[in-house]
Amino acid sequence: MILLARAIWSCKGRIIINGALRICDNVVIAVGSSIDITPLKDEPVVDLGDSIILPAFVNAHCHLDYTGLAGRLNPGISFADWIDQIVEIKRSLTVDEQESSWIRGSQMLIKSGCGVVFNIESVPGLFSRMIKHTPLQVCPFTELIGFKDGDDESLVHLAKRELSKNSSLSIVAGLAPHSPYTTTSKALNVLAGYADREGAPIAVHVSESDDEWAMFTTGAGALYDKMKGLGRRMTDCCAKSPIQHFNNSGGAAIRTLVVHANYLISEDFDFLAKSGLSVVHCPQSHSWFGHPEFEYSRLAEKGVNICLGTDSLASSGRANSEIAELNMFSEMREFQSRNQEVDVDDILEMATLNGAKAIGMEGQFGQLREGMLANFSFIPFPSHLSDVKETIIAHEGSISGLFINGKHVFSGKC
Ligand SMILES: [Zn+2]
Repeated sequence: MILLARAIWSCKGRIIINGALRICDNVVIAVGSSIDITPLKDEPVVDLGDSIILPAFVNAHCHLDYTGLAGRLNPGISFADWIDQIVEIKRSLTVDEQESSWIRGSQMLIKSGCGVVFNIESVPGLFSRMIKHTPLQVCPFTELIGFKDGDDESLVHLAKRELSKNSSLSIVAGLAPHSPYTTTSKALNVLAGYADREGAPIAVHVSESDDEWAMFTTGAGALYDKMKGLGRRMTDCCAKSPIQHFNNSGGAAIRTLVVHANYLISEDFDFLAKSGLSVVHCPQSHSWFGHPEFEYSRLAEKGVNICLGTDSLASSGRANSEIAELNMFSEMREFQSRNQEVDVDDILEMATLNGAKAIGMEGQFGQLREGMLANFSFIPFPSHLSDVKETIIAHEGSISGLFINGKHVFSGKC
């Protein structure tokens, strides 16, 4: 089948005017000008008219099961306070609520052009029950929390069980040791080693808040007090930074997504770059918490692979205000509003290819090139031909259509 559109943004630096995209089954066969790609005998042609075709987004960090928490939490007087709120609400959720949240989140991502999402699975078994209900390619990262001595054994046991169950149901299954403050140093190290043996990526929340910073650098603060009260041994709270604590623990696997990285010292930039780790930035959640400016330029200059994620709706909305949605266009716009000097091509790449790179799947999705998965969306293009990238990032509302793995899974109607 050939799809024609007034423009195709196939990847950074490649815009095709009057473009044609040939797909066969679930694979892109050709991308180019409609002059060069002409129909074979009996080959169907779909003319999308004044549209832009673009790769489906790769959302590098999400918690689908928190979708129902939109607008129910506030940033609190400290990060520890927010954790108390979410722990309290999560305790009250029924299985039905967890499932409907997960599905509603996946629907929000589909109607806003997402093809692949790296989702933190905090409820064992939820992913394997829900994945058959969505065409979204969800990569499940099993959340692992254990901050008591000896917890590493039970965490590896849980990791093994979920990984073996999830691997056959997804393109990639990973692990998510939650964070250095909720996972012992030994467990971080053991899980990184286990992930490498299994060829699995890991995602870890590191250096998200000033509370976490205070806990690991000064051995004080609300998060320190909270974790100490929960029985965590606090003798490791003497690092130069949370990232250095993570490094000292040997917590990095070969493919590691460091989620947030909001508070950094000079050595952290070098460590992230030299270790080949990826950083996931979640612009709307970042703004909601009021963190200091994300250090995009310094990270990018060092060559760190930076991806965009939506995070969850547990860090969105205010009382009596409009409830936010999981939407990568909104994330790109939020990032752009705080980083006006960054080229739109680079922002689009953060929302597409860079997520794929983070888990070693850049040859599979995140761009529209020959041989890659047919994961793409299309949106209206009423603007001037020179405004392709700007039209994409400015797009609001549902997309016009979405293909995932070669299947037409959304046609613009909710
Ligand atoms: Zn998260």
